[in-house]
Amino acid sequence: MTAPGWALDLVAAVCADADVPPPRLAWRRRAGEASTGVTRRHDGMIAVRAGTDPLDHRLTLLHELAHWLAPAARVRRGGATHHGRAFYAIAFTLYRRHGLADADALRLESARYRSSLRHAVALGVSGAEAALAEHRSAMRERPHRRWRVLVPEHRVRLERDGRWTICGTCRQRIVGINLARMRRARRPVSHVLMTAT
Ligand SMILES: [Zn+2]
Ligand SMILES: [Zn+2]
Repeated sequence: MTAPGWALDLVAAVCADADVPPPRLAWRRRAGEASTGVTRRHDGMIAVRAGTDPLDHRLTLLHELAHWLAPAARVRRGGATHHGRAFYAIAFTLYRRHGLADADALRLESARYRSSLRHAVALGVSGAEAALAEHRSAMRERPHRRWRVLVPEHRVRLERDGRWTICGTCRQRIVGINLARMRRARRPVSHVLMTAT
């Protein structure tokens, strides 16, 4: 399908501002809310698969345009520098200049790349510090698994159970490196059977 008019206009405007030749734009639909995008520098193209959220269409296209404008050397190796500080300096500037409120940009971008929050704080994007603090406290408050003892500490007695080796006391399967270690051990080995609640 052909890209919508606003998207073509946006590509033209961003590239004119930056004084770089525009990429071709491929546009498809995808199921689901979020859009995805990819920039193929060698082919001179940006491809977007547009989900159902129109704000995310715009952010996705601007994100790919930020890759298009980012210095080639930083894009080449992918990984950390692909979405590093230099990239986000360009991206958040584009988001703001082309119609995304900082709050929306932070929300949508950090849903894809958590690390964008850290860069946004360093770049002074409004609301970024609060968003990062909120994210960190949410991480801290995630419920931890609690473990309790199902069978108290006891000596392991290796037994066969069909094709498995088990502890004859607690019936736990013993495999791999643990099994090798227990077979090698000169002194009796003890263990505890724990369960997550
Ligand atoms: Zn990207
Ligand atoms: Zn046992």
